[in-house]
Amino acid sequence: MVEVVIVGSIGLDNIETPFGKIRGTLGGSAVYSAIASSFFSKSGIVGVVGRDFPQRHLDLMQRKEIDLNGIEKKEGKTFTWTGKYDFDLNTAQTLETNLNVLEDFEPKIPEEYRKAEYVFLGNIDPELQLSVLEQMEKPKLVLSDTMNYWIESKRTKVLEVVKKVDIALMNDAEARELFKTTNLVKAAKEILKLDSDYAIIKKGEHGAVMFTEESHFSVPGYPLEDIKDPTGAGDSFAGALIGFLAKEKEINESNIRKAMVYGSIVASLEVEGMGVTNFDFVNQFKIKERFKEFKKIMQF
Ligand code: AMP
Repeated sequence: MVEVVIVGSIGLDNIETPFGKIRGTLGGSAVYSAIASSFFSKSGIVGVVGRDFPQRHLDLMQRKEIDLNGIEKKEGKTFTWTGKYDFDLNTAQTLETNLNVLEDFEPKIPEEYRKAEYVFLGNIDPELQLSVLEQMEKPKLVLSDTMNYWIESKRTKVLEVVKKVDIALMNDAEARELFKTTNLVKAAKEILKLDSDYAIIKKGEHGAVMFTEESHFSVPGYPLEDIKDPTGAGDSFAGALIGFLAKEKEINESNIRKAMVYGSIVASLEVEGMGVTNFDFVNQFKIKERFKEFKKIMQF
């Protein structure tokens, strides 16, 4: 039974970093998140692909035991994203976005997904995020993400999503842009004012911070010497976070803090390879080993 429903983009990425270049690789926010979530809970992915989407990409997701019934195959071309990173790996430069089949996608949540209690509205058109939410029966926890592309084109809808979810997640640049402030604490307070119980702001290789009305918590990024490609780090963080919470079943601040640590662990393992490739080498043993490292680096 699917425990976590993940919606977002499923695409073909062309990525260039100072350490390598790949074309037509499996990408998309939902893909990274679903793989990351699947290390902890049974996860189902909702998205759309075109007729050109290679079977080997579906096979990779199947190997991770992701439920693929929520993937619709449509006439036309798959969503593509072309991005480049220079030596500051925190900032992706988008060179091209082709929405293709994503342009007029109307998500239909499979019957067997509707009862799932954990929903991640990954980075995709905020109107699609809202449509997914309407089709879910009674989720216990809804987490959302977004990106500058949607903040710039559909700001009001992005704010509506933030208002409807339990945990609003975004990265530092997006939070500043959405709330028109340079200060992250102020941006987090704006998120909380919109009825979100928790605001989590991702800070790229520097980890993430969480704010509630009464408290805040920081998780570091793992100090990696060998980052190959940061694409999908934020999505992997989010996927692991919701997957872990679905496994624990109880939503409280202590579990959310632990979930953020697992988010940071899985993201750090993902960025050690180009695209999603490194996920083929990530397993429970590696997650446990890095958890021990995190315990050490977070102690004082
Ligand atoms: P991240 O590095 O976590 O920001 O996510 C990278 C993934 O987001 C890539 O695999 C892209 O395919 C996907 N992506 C890029 N632009 C968009 C967009 N406008 N909407 C949805 N997904 C996108």
